[in-house]
Amino acid sequence: MGYAEVSVNSPIAQRRTFSYTIPPSLSIDVGQAVWVPFGDKLLQGIVVELSDYPSVAETREIAGVIDPRPLLSPARVGLARWISEHYLSPLFEAVALMLPPGFERKVLTFISGPSSPPEYDLASLNQEQRHVLELIQQGKIGLKELEKVLGKKKAQTVVSQLVGRGLAVRSYELGPIKVRPKEELYLSLSVKSSEAQQEAARLRGKKAVKQAALLDFLTQQTEPVSWVEVRHKVNCDKAVADALFSKGLVTVQYVGVKRDPLADYCMPLSYPLSLTVAQRSALETIKSSLQGDISLSAFLLHGVTGSGKTEIYLQALAEVVKQGRRGIVLVPEIALTPQTIERFASRFPRKVAILHSKLSLGEQYDEWHRIRDGEFDVVIGSRSAIFAPQPDLGLIVLDEEHEWTYKQSDRPRYHARDVAIKLAELTGAVVILGSATPDVETFYHAQGGDYQLLQLPERVTPSEGASLPQVEVVDLRDELKAGNRSLFSRSLSQAMAKSIACGGQVILFLNRRGAATFIQCRRCGFVLRCKRCEVALTYHFAGDVLLCHRCNYRTAVPRVCPRCLSPRIKFLGIGTQRLEQEVSRTFPQTRWLRWDSDVTKYKGSHQEILGKFRAHEADILIGTQMIAKGLDLPQVTLVGVVSADTGLNLPDFRAGERTFQLLCQVAGRAGRGRLGGQVIIQTYAPEHYAIQAAAKYDYDAFYNKEINYRRQLRNPPFSRLACLTYSQTNDAVCQREAERMKRLITQEIDSRGIADLSLIGPAPAFIHRLRGRFRWQLILRGSEPSALLSELPIPQGWAVDIDPVGLV
Ligand code: ADP
Ligand code: ZN
Ligand code: ZN
Repeated sequence: MGYAEVSVNSPIAQRRTFSYTIPPSLSIDVGQAVWVPFGDKLLQGIVVELSDYPSVAETREIAGVIDPRPLLSPARVGLARWISEHYLSPLFEAVALMLPPGFERKVLTFISGPSSPPEYDLASLNQEQRHVLELIQQGKIGLKELEKVLGKKKAQTVVSQLVGRGLAVRSYELGPIKVRPKEELYLSLSVKSSEAQQEAARLRGKKAVKQAALLDFLTQQTEPVSWVEVRHKVNCDKAVADALFSKGLVTVQYVGVKRDPLADYCMPLSYPLSLTVAQRSALETIKSSLQGDISLSAFLLHGVTGSGKTEIYLQALAEVVKQGRRGIVLVPEIALTPQTIERFASRFPRKVAILHSKLSLGEQYDEWHRIRDGEFDVVIGSRSAIFAPQPDLGLIVLDEEHEWTYKQSDRPRYHARDVAIKLAELTGAVVILGSATPDVETFYHAQGGDYQLLQLPERVTPSEGASLPQVEVVDLRDELKAGNRSLFSRSLSQAMAKSIACGGQVILFLNRRGAATFIQCRRCGFVLRCKRCEVALTYHFAGDVLLCHRCNYRTAVPRVCPRCLSPRIKFLGIGTQRLEQEVSRTFPQTRWLRWDSDVTKYKGSHQEILGKFRAHEADILIGTQMIAKGLDLPQVTLVGVVSADTGLNLPDFRAGERTFQLLCQVAGRAGRGRLGGQVIIQTYAPEHYAIQAAAKYDYDAFYNKEINYRRQLRNPPFSRLACLTYSQTNDAVCQREAERMKRLITQEIDSRGIADLSLIGPAPAFIHRLRGRFRWQLILRGSEPSALLSELPIPQGWAVDIDPVGLV
């Protein structure tokens, strides 16, 4: 007899699997979705392993098969197990990442009579039992219906009694699927057009102008018209159509439509470009890995924006397709990369699938099934597209691999880069990590030989003004000295005026995150830092104190600047609002737009704002980090970074890296057209290595400094981190629990004698209060923090983040 280890969809299951007997009637495979009894319930599960022996003495039987085809390939089952172990997440949560959208459904219980009922005495049954027996003699009935008749409790008792006596049996079915094929409303006339015209005239007489207009419109049509089109052309709302429908003048029908997220794109076919020397050499190396000639299968493709990385992805994919295999391409944020998607779609016409979380559930459902059936050569998507059921995987591309959006902030808190590397290992696929500013850890691994480094040192087309723009770093300390109290340095305001006068456009970049949290000397730019952790201290209005969010060090705000003795020490960062005011004061004649997450909450608003800016309906675009992403705006001749210091002073050891990456990206937005361009970075810390290196696009200079700091302070990649956050409505309780956990972990470290694990904190989290709950944090640092944590009891209320990307 065979046994199956099953990952069960229950919060109790955690990281465990459970053993079940495979009944002879069922054929079961790894990756298959099954029903299993669990306590007194029947739950969904995924088979993760088959074995000849159970892991416990007594096992129950698998109750049934949900889907005859396995939903997960064996490699993906392996991936789920790795995610669960590595990120300490419940196994089913890891499995669920790879299940078809809408998979998790309720189980419905049905009651019916047994095929051969035993002898029984009717008199021994009470009235309700007899009532139920009568009902089920007519056929099976849902428990829900019985509950409506008898009440919930009573129904369940009676059913249990009847089942116990062998007079009824339970069976289970899936609840209704939440996803349905999408349908669209179509309208047509249900009367002759002559009649409709008469009716329209009558309606006009009664001042029902809209109804008349709609009738007229339909009279002119030869075929049913979709409601979307009608609404657009006649400019009426649904009530107007309803009124005509109820008068019997209009017919309404639903027509199924296939959801195709690429429908809006109009794509001419594109052909492979003939490669530059650097591109060819990179591609040849990747190809030899794809052909199995070299054993190394992970690459870091390092090249500035415009150096031709995407063209390499495209040609590497073409090679994979030629071999009869397929690829997955991850991009940081799909809504911001329509141009990239178009390039893939035009190279592989009708062979590209798009997956991302902003698709409707129905769209995701359709795409999942089509991908599994092998309809696409390439799947493109954000983070979670790494879990697409793409068969015969040959290549995984992570574009902009340094982006933090690749890390999921909710459970399971996986990093798509690490998942991609693991999946490639399990499937034999090749991975390309691409970036202009690689993550310091990735670059370190590439130097160490874990990945092969491929470099594209130059832009492909340095002609046509596409070379990298000039960067000027402005020292804000000189501005105050010269009596300039504006947010714009003299340099920046002159450049803005000039750009606009010459018909160019300006982007003003403000990293709002972290603004108004640190204080800075307005005269010399000095920022107070924690002596132990090196991170900027955060200012708290309540209590007027400075606090280290890593180790909980507190200190009073000094009256004068410790460096230059100026009393103007309490200068807080700037917000977008302040910036908007300043723009309208300094440039009253100009038109400007703002683009940040506050104004782009609804679907499509990105495109709208961007469309307006591209159409030159505004001269200035004010934005946060979102504008740094890969947009091609040829009319932008000036990018101004209003304050480079806000990012620099976030209480996180990655602040320098983050600032460098952002500045490089932002600078890349300027001078993409024939007009050329200029970048101005304003800062109080012009000598900072991250700013210096960004101004020269010098990744090596940045990396060499940064990796030394990391080594000195034993930060990743020289250690791994686990961030433990406890949240609770009461701040004091929260702190006490954090301290208790610290004692527990310290004891554990001591008793096991693990020398290389250290604990930092507890301290209030940078965002101390979130949705009414206070948060305290502990950071565990060492070579394998998750090994220790996996064996500790971690109570409810704690969130564990392994390899966190941001500590704020
Ligand atoms: P990246 O992905 O590094 O930003 P792209 O692949 O987008 O770079 O290339 C930048 C621009 O150069 C694109 O317009 C692309 O079409 C063009 N390009 C890339 N490779 C070549 C080539 N070998 N010959 C001519 N143009 C190229
Ligand atoms: Zn000072
Ligand atoms: Zn500290």
